[in-house]
Amino acid sequence: MDLQILGSGGSMTIPRPLCDCAVCSKARKKGGKYKRNNASFFIKDKNILIDCGEDIADSLNRNNISKVDNLFITHWHPDHTFGLRVLLESGYNFRTPGADKIIEVYIPKKVFEDLKAKFPVIDHLLNFQKTGNLHLIEDGDELEFDDLAIEAVGYNGAGSDHYAYLIKENNKRVLYAPCDTIDFNTYEKILNLDLLIHECGMFFDHKTEIKFPNLINRLRANRPAKTIFTHIEEVELRLYGESFKKAKKDYSDLKFDFAFDGMKIKI
Ligand SMILES: [Zn+2]
Ligand SMILES: [Zn+2]
Repeated sequence: MDLQILGSGGSMTIPRPLCDCAVCSKARKKGGKYKRNNASFFIKDKNILIDCGEDIADSLNRNNISKVDNLFITHWHPDHTFGLRVLLESGYNFRTPGADKIIEVYIPKKVFEDLKAKFPVIDHLLNFQKTGNLHLIEDGDELEFDDLAIEAVGYNGAGSDHYAYLIKENNKRVLYAPCDTIDFNTYEKILNLDLLIHECGMFFDHKTEIKFPNLINRLRANRPAKTIFTHIEEVELRLYGESFKKAKKDYSDLKFDFAFDGMKIKI
């Protein structure tokens, strides 16, 4: 399967607006791999997008993606959902008026409850503009797209407020778990992955985020054939940029890489 990291950033786009730190200045000047949009992921052949932060229009445009048929959401946080307005409204025709394009939108039940409360315009997009067709899903549900299947994996089983997605095709298994994995308590069941795309974790102590060394312990237990770390925060790069380089040496027994925007993955 052909996969692509559209955005490899964290909750804040890099360059962070109004920030003149070295990381943001370099990203502003050089663009390319130094620029990081909110975390989003694309499965090419099936036009499946996972998550859409506020900068999703830029992520789609610069990767020349002209069609999104299906959208999966991992959790309600703005860096994963607030691009729903732009994405869904892109299919709305103000002249007729009505929907020209409809995207199939898959959201876990609890995530949708949270999203409705935090982002009420979702109701307008789904029920007035009708540019999205909502499918409420639950832990363990498997959606089929010809020969490819996507399984919803609740971080704490059914009723979770955070989900990862397990993508399966031709005996290959890829797990996309981009955010807040400190609460991912069902990861232990997911062994023998061909690829794990996982949030990067923190290089400093944090109460509500997973620390990079703890994440490494998870990898040692699960032994995915390869891991790509995404959701890389500006503040991490600014304060702990050297740790990224050092990590590869420190944990040279594991096969992992750091994502960048536009990164193409063939599996
Ligand atoms: Zn900055
Ligand atoms: Zn996030």
